[in-house]
Amino acid sequence: MHLKRLEISGFKSFAQKTILDFAGGITAIVGPNGCGKSNIVDAIKWVMGEQSMKSVRGKKGEDLIFSGSKKRVRLGKARVALFMDNSSGAAPIDFPEVVISRNIFRAGENEYHINNSKVRLKDVADILTKARMAQKSFSIINQGMADAILNYSPTERQLILEEAAGVRGYQVKKEEAARKIKNTKDNLEKTASLMAEIEPHLNYLRKQASKAEKREEIVKKLGDIQKSYFGVISKNLYKEKNQINRRNKSARDEIFRKSQELIELKKNLSKEEKNMFSGDNGIFGLQQKWNDLRMKIGEMEKETAKIEAKIELILIAREPQVSPVDIDYIKTRISQSLELLKKALNSQNAGEKNKILNEGLEMLDCLHNEIKNGKIKKYLKKPEVNPGLLEEKKELEDKIAKLSSESREIQANIANRQGQELKEKAKFFEMERRIKAIEDEIGGDKDVLRDLDIEEAKVSMKLGDIEKEIADSGMNIQEIIAADIKIPELFNQDDSEREIRRLKVRLDEIGSIDQATIQEFHETDQRYQFLEKESGDLKKTISSLKNVIDELERKIRENFNDYFSVINNEFNNYFRLIFGGGRASLLRKTAVNQVDGDNDETGGNDKENDNINREGVDISAILPGKKIKDLSLFSGGERSLTSIALLFAIIASASPPFLVLDEIDAALDEDNSQKFGKILRELSRKTQFILITHNRETMKLADILYGVTMDEGVSRVLSLRLV
Ligand code: ATP
Repeated sequence: MHLKRLEISGFKSFAQKTILDFAGGITAIVGPNGCGKSNIVDAIKWVMGEQSMKSVRGKKGEDLIFSGSKKRVRLGKARVALFMDNSSGAAPIDFPEVVISRNIFRAGENEYHINNSKVRLKDVADILTKARMAQKSFSIINQGMADAILNYSPTERQLILEEAAGVRGYQVKKEEAARKIKNTKDNLEKTASLMAEIEPHLNYLRKQASKAEKREEIVKKLGDIQKSYFGVISKNLYKEKNQINRRNKSARDEIFRKSQELIELKKNLSKEEKNMFSGDNGIFGLQQKWNDLRMKIGEMEKETAKIEAKIELILIAREPQVSPVDIDYIKTRISQSLELLKKALNSQNAGEKNKILNEGLEMLDCLHNEIKNGKIKKYLKKPEVNPGLLEEKKELEDKIAKLSSESREIQANIANRQGQELKEKAKFFEMERRIKAIEDEIGGDKDVLRDLDIEEAKVSMKLGDIEKEIADSGMNIQEIIAADIKIPELFNQDDSEREIRRLKVRLDEIGSIDQATIQEFHETDQRYQFLEKESGDLKKTISSLKNVIDELERKIRENFNDYFSVINNEFNNYFRLIFGGGRASLLRKTAVNQVDGDNDETGGNDKENDNINREGVDISAILPGKKIKDLSLFSGGERSLTSIALLFAIIASASPPFLVLDEIDAALDEDNSQKFGKILRELSRKTQFILITHNRETMKLADILYGVTMDEGVSRVLSLRLV
């Protein structure tokens, strides 16, 4: 791939669009001082992506845009386009021609295009690197630089050689990797110091979090125990309360029932009382009647006695044999009476007792009357008596018998009534006793009620206490009651209370832990873990970058070693050719492959940088017939020729696609200019040259010659010779 054409418009002194077509071999640009020749070189550098303003001899972007002249106003934009032949396909783009263009505006904005498509600087750099045309110090060389190659430090010289050897890319990558390692190490250090900073606080937070976890566990355990404890206790208390209420109700029911009974009893009692003390129970009337009867009987008995006396008189008058007393009769009657009295004494029943007693007494009374009236005379021989008297007597006796029987009936009635009265009294007293008993029972029931009320109050108080305890524990009694709590088989109230107390003490010991602290722990831990991971990633990055560096170094070593021996050889050849003898060589100052043996896990020390700094190339040259080795003692021409020999060696060994040489032939005398021209012609078979020159010998070599002039501050290009 070679340069075909350069279009410049608005760039520096090139106010108007200027086109330069390049020859495949040598293109020479000539012109007086200050006409703008070097501006063309700047344009080439710039379009190839130069980022250093110094390198294009400016301070700021604006300096690159035509700044105006007496006749022409300044421009707002500069544009340079470089046309390249890609028929060989060296650039990885599917076009036979590649046009790279770059614009700059006064505001400083830069634009890059490849074949009219807007691209990034990186794309431009990529395509040129692939085509081995990357704009570096080596592809554009001015006189100062050619001389400077001798004055450069070994390291700078090494850079140029690396560029020429095509390992510069690797070297750049290696430097990048080394820089990345350094940055990564910086980051690693920052990460480590952040971790160190966080760690003590994180440890504290971790402890707090683990305490909180423990606390949580205890709270859960406590909650479980409390749930069953509260459940058992409150259920039992409710059960107890219900039982008390039931007992209370049944006691009240009992009192009510007994009170009703009492009322009824009292009602009956007062009725009974009224009956008992109303006065008339018939006994008095009967007594009265009995007395009347007794009187009548008495009178009749008197009548009878009179009749009997009459009869007696009659009988006596007719000599009746009379025994004064019938002893047997009296004996029989007395023993009968005594029997009755005895019976009366033994009788338990008051009524019966009276009745029998009366019967006995009456019998005695009757016997007494019979004796007194002489009725119990024993007739030894029955006298004859007037039948009328007898009849009268018989009538009286019948009446007496009848009345006696009536009297006995009344007597029995009285006894009966008295028995009745006793029964009623007994019933009354029984009622009184019953009332008393019920009243006592009610009293007892009321005592029970009072006790139950006290018990109920106690249970309610306990329930109140437990409810408060439940509420204090953040629970709800209704939920506790509703929950189907399985009472542990080995539930023991004392043990549970002890355990609850113990857990509460433990909670107190742990103390409360702020939720924000836990939150902070999680956040800090996350951050720490993130840093830990990052640290690991950074270490991995360092390790892989080290591998990259090793690989790059291996490539650099291999490529550069090969190249170096070639260039060394060429340098000696060109030196001897130019000077007609002598000896020149390049010396590797330090071996590239000294990078190893670094076991630092963070990616090593600064060995990568050290190596870059340590590496370098020295020049050793001896002129024919002379012994001087020290280049500083060479004449200006000798130095120029030595640097040109080295330059040619580089070009010959690397065969770059193109090379811009800006007045590097200025110091050559005619003889040396001819040698220079000859070698250049030789090299131009492989490398395209664009030469800025004042040297006539060089101009003669050119395939295309451009003359640059400046008119009123504006550069113009004139083609002086075409191929
Ligand atoms: P020499 O042979 O002495 O090295 P030269 O031909 O290489 O000279 P240059 O250095 O290319 O000349 O050109 C310098 C000229 O370009 C100066 O006259 C300078 O004023 C002009 N110039 C540089 N920048 C601008 C700009 N932005 N606008 C207008 N003119 C500019």
